[in-house]
Amino acid sequence: MSLKLEHVTYTYNPGSAYETHALKDVSLEIPQGQFVGVIGHTGSGKSTLTQHFNGLMRPTSGTVYYNDEDIWQEGYSLKRLRSHVGLVFQYPEHQLFEADVLSDVCFGPKNQGLSQEEARERARTALIQVGLKEKYFSSSPFELSGGQKRRVAIAGVLAMEPDVLILDEPTAGLDPKGRDEILDQIAYLHQERKITVILVSHSMEDIARYVERILVMNQGEKAFDGTPKEVFAHYKELEAMGLAAPQITYIMHALRENGLAADTSAITVEEARDSILKALGRGEK
Ligand code: ADP
Ligand code: MG
Repeated sequence: MSLKLEHVTYTYNPGSAYETHALKDVSLEIPQGQFVGVIGHTGSGKSTLTQHFNGLMRPTSGTVYYNDEDIWQEGYSLKRLRSHVGLVFQYPEHQLFEADVLSDVCFGPKNQGLSQEEARERARTALIQVGLKEKYFSSSPFELSGGQKRRVAIAGVLAMEPDVLILDEPTAGLDPKGRDEILDQIAYLHQERKITVILVSHSMEDIARYVERILVMNQGEKAFDGTPKEVFAHYKELEAMGLAAPQITYIMHALRENGLAADTSAITVEEARDSILKALGRGEK
């Protein structure tokens, strides 16, 4: 089971004065169960990329495969694909539209052909998974806070029980507590249900903490693809792309420049703590 792009190019408004080459010859493969982060400056092509994974956008050239099948071949069911590959858009709260929260989350499973009862069961489970309190289930989505709306939108995709969950900047604009709760929950689902997670994020701290692989987009091209340590080792080049490494990377480099044998490849606070204690001769913890 995997998602694969082969030489995918996407051009907005081809042949007009507004022509934009949003993706340029992108090839990559994501095996089932991987937790992948996608980073890149605004306009680098992240959202365009995510919409190719579930067939919302069709490549100008190149091929998209899901489980080794070309999703744009004659007779391929994009509807079925979208129930396996769930996409939570950037600012998904703009897509809530039903009268109450539970009905909104039921929309996907009902569309999959489940009965009203099964759909409600799926919706309740998904809402509990994203940490929305039961007292809000019958509220209008429009009465909720920003963070709650975001949870409802994520639940709407989870309720379809996708094999692949794609989240385009799911925590943008949320406070740190809401952000951590949502990402912890997603990390938990990834572990428990072995779903593939593709997380587009601006936060290097979030990316460093959760993902096992990072794709870096730059001006429509895949610039780097590797483990967080491999990718953040290129922090000077990332800066040239308008990105940065996690704050802790800079601290570790500064410590080393000042003579402490700190491990400059540490990318989380926990790793940094252990490395600093070791360098100070105090062992692990
Ligand atoms: P990101 O998500 O990394 O910010 P996008 O995929 O949204 O990047 O955009 C990639 C490029 O495509 C940018 O240059 C952007 O201006 C352009 N673009 C995005 N959406 C559209 C659109 N609907 N019409 C024309 N150009 C677009
Ligand atoms: Mg975007």
